[in-house]
Amino acid sequence: MMMNIPFVDLKSQYQAIKPEIDQAIANVIEDTAFIRGKYVKKFEEEFRSLYGVKHCIGVANGTDAIYIILKMLGIGAGDEVITVANSWISTSETISQTGAKPVFVDVDDYFTIDSQQIESKITTKTKAIIPVHLYGQMADMPTIKAICDKHKLFLIEDTAQAHFSEIQGKRAATIGHAATFSFYPGKNLGAYGDAGAIVTNDDALAEKCRMYANHGALIKHQHFMEGINSRLDGLQASILSAKLPYILEWTRARQQVAAWYDKALKDIEEIVLPKVRPNSKHTFHLYVILAPQRAALQDYLKQQGISTSVHYPVPLPFMPAYQYLEYTRADFPKVAHNEARILSLPIYPELGKDKIQYIAKHIKIFFDARK
Ligand SMILES: *Cc1c(COP(=O)(O)O)cnc(C)c1O
Repeated sequence: MMMNIPFVDLKSQYQAIKPEIDQAIANVIEDTAFIRGKYVKKFEEEFRSLYGVKHCIGVANGTDAIYIILKMLGIGAGDEVITVANSWISTSETISQTGAKPVFVDVDDYFTIDSQQIESKITTKTKAIIPVHLYGQMADMPTIKAICDKHKLFLIEDTAQAHFSEIQGKRAATIGHAATFSFYPGKNLGAYGDAGAIVTNDDALAEKCRMYANHGALIKHQHFMEGINSRLDGLQASILSAKLPYILEWTRARQQVAAWYDKALKDIEEIVLPKVRPNSKHTFHLYVILAPQRAALQDYLKQQGISTSVHYPVPLPFMPAYQYLEYTRADFPKVAHNEARILSLPIYPELGKDKIQYIAKHIKIFFDARK
């Protein structure tokens, strides 16, 4: 029997908690608390407290969160910021927006920045490192933190895909000077539109970011500097508060889905399964395998009703936007090797075991037919 398996399923989640979400939306409209106001404050406090950080500043999206931190750390023209070659473009475009130059590093076996190659990229202009905890797995933070301490660099964690991931008992977003979250609808904790947050334990940096995100003002009409308009809105905050009590349960469900995949796929020798870094907790925003003949496999799975995706089809240094940096594929051999092979299989907390077995069965049929 043919199954229909979407890549993500935001509708089942809504149906499971519909009364709470509908109430959360109605409350904001009833109180006309659309911009700033009590629902934003409430979510910031709840997220900060559940996460275990000193400050949470709601912003318009995860991209702005990165830009605001870089700006408030004083990064700009003439500076360099080191980041990873495979990420969503937000990580590097925000570096450029400040006037600084992005410097890319290849990935390790866990799809995150190769910590062993970072030091060779540090120059007198380097000001910060932005590791990305891609797919739900943290970068090698103990090593990266030591490098930042040694060279006196700022460390900013892009945690858009790794809410509540851990390494050596430490949560993602709690190791660097500041960290960013995205609550884009498909992220592990998702709003119903664009939303993001900055977290930090640094009081002065928190205050600056809060000001800059709101036209340079903490109090209306008292502008201490020029800023931007990047605020988390009341509706999104209220929806996020309604979802927050479920996030740890949803995270466990994602890990269960990944464990089912691992078991169901382990004997298919053509593919490579995602590796989990020792002493770490992967929260599986995405379940990414390496597969030969990816395009044909995707087509075959599509015919079986299974939607898949690629994160990301073109690594950042190879995009037209970064042609001016004159990188070649030889500069990033791992990323270049993965480019045609990475394949994201469907994953969401509600994905059942029967569906995973169906997906695994069809991946096996595809490769058996080509032996
Ligand atoms: C989603 C994402 C962002 C940006 O978040 P938005 O809320 O969409 O602006 C940044 N970095 C990574 C790695 C992401 O996945």
